[in-house]
Amino acid sequence: MHFTNDEIHHLGRTMLDWYDRHHRTLPWRAEPGDAQDPYRVWLSEIMLQQTTVVTVGPYFAAFLQRWPTVTDLANADLDEVLHAWQGLGYYARARNLHKCAKVVADEYGGRFPDTEEGLLKLPGIGPYTAAAVAAIAFNRHSSPVDGNIERVISRLFALETPLPDVKPEIKEKSAALTPSDRPGDYAQALMDLGATICTPRNPACGICPWQASCEGRKSGIAPELPRKRKKPAKSTRVGYAFWIQREDGKILVRRRPEKGLLGGLYEVPGSDWRAIDAPDDVMLSEAPIKANWTELDGTVGHTFTHFHLDVTILATKISESDAAKLDGSWTTIDGLSEFALPTVMKKIVRHALKYR
Ligand code: SF4
Repeated sequence: MHFTNDEIHHLGRTMLDWYDRHHRTLPWRAEPGDAQDPYRVWLSEIMLQQTTVVTVGPYFAAFLQRWPTVTDLANADLDEVLHAWQGLGYYARARNLHKCAKVVADEYGGRFPDTEEGLLKLPGIGPYTAAAVAAIAFNRHSSPVDGNIERVISRLFALETPLPDVKPEIKEKSAALTPSDRPGDYAQALMDLGATICTPRNPACGICPWQASCEGRKSGIAPELPRKRKKPAKSTRVGYAFWIQREDGKILVRRRPEKGLLGGLYEVPGSDWRAIDAPDDVMLSEAPIKANWTELDGTVGHTFTHFHLDVTILATKISESDAAKLDGSWTTIDGLSEFALPTVMKKIVRHALKYR
């Protein structure tokens, strides 16, 4: 499937016309044709990775109110940023967000580089985000391809190769279609079309500006596209969480190592997470202290990107003198909200409070 230059020009024009009339109003967006604030564009793009527009809205507003400029964010304490990020998932992104703000503030005088290549040099900015910020904030001739755009392009050309193998082809086709006039609005138009009309299950082809050209619609396979390669089943890992309470009722939390899953966040101390047949005594030997443990009823389940975790909680009470030997922070239950606890740890806390 190939479009002539005239057809490409027409597709670009109809998409921009559609955007002018039907664009979504989003908190981080300027009106079509208006200049955009790169800080807002960048912040929203980082927040939107793996998360929905509805979820991001309040977080975006809260971040902007607290840190109105990239320099304000750069001057914030990392712990404050991680704390404000809670609920958006993937804390590595929050750490990179902060790191990136520092680089922009310290090395670029508080101004984001205005090209895809320049943006790619910043921490936490991959090819998609670089292209999105370059197009949307600086109106560069870049072609970001997110999940929505992937869907629209694969349908327009009726590309049947499954994801992820089809990605290079989608990128190439998408770049060839991008108009030189208002490429930022064009990218946002495709994102909006994918979110509101060319939706995963029931594309509303009857009101789509591209219906006359769309091969997926014509051949009746649009709702099946893009095809996906079957994923291998997720493995399950198991582990212990050690709920250690001091005589005064405070419990022990500690910071996880900076590197690795949930790096730098706080946790109820635990064993490593291992294959389901891991021996109990090995995991028990990883407790911060030898103690009389009581196993709480039930387990806490949590699914990460690549595996499912089942945690068993072991609880104990220890003396002030034993407590003094342990590394970490002692906190009241109410005080736990001051610590950046990832979702899995919040589930462990809730379970321990219910069953101890
Ligand atoms: Fe998507 Fe239908 Fe429009 Fe094709 S015609 S781009 S399938 S909404």
